[in-house]
Amino acid sequence: MQLVQKTLVRLGGGEVEDRWNKTHCDRCGKKVDQGKGIYADGGFYHQEPCWEEQKKDIIKAYEWDEYKTFREPNITCPYCGYGDSDSWEYSDDGEEIECGRCEMTFECERVVDVTYTTVRKKD
Ligand SMILES: [Zn+2]
Ligand SMILES: [Zn+2]
Repeated sequence: MQLVQKTLVRLGGGEVEDRWNKTHCDRCGKKVDQGKGIYADGGFYHQEPCWEEQKKDIIKAYEWDEYKTFREPNITCPYCGYGDSDSWEYSDDGEEIECGRCEMTFECERVVDVTYTTVRKKD
């Protein structure tokens, strides 16, 4: 269970905005009706269509090649580059994973490097 931390952001005019109590969409700037908004990727959006469009932009902005997500210390999303070890629910190899940021699903292979350490026997 993760604590949701309330973050206050100081805006340009010295005004303090509560990030978890937003009323206007970060993408189109229009008011969001109750229950129609989504907090995602550090912002607040109309679930439809703004967040859907925002996700497409996030994915478009990330240029993936296979080396960027090859044997990374964290599971890294091949669609947006998001990698945060705390945010993944991951159990087994071959499972589809949904990105906590762009919500795309992808396959993940866990690579375990086995190493051996040997020492001389004590006399
Ligand atoms: Zn919007
Ligand atoms: Zn992603």
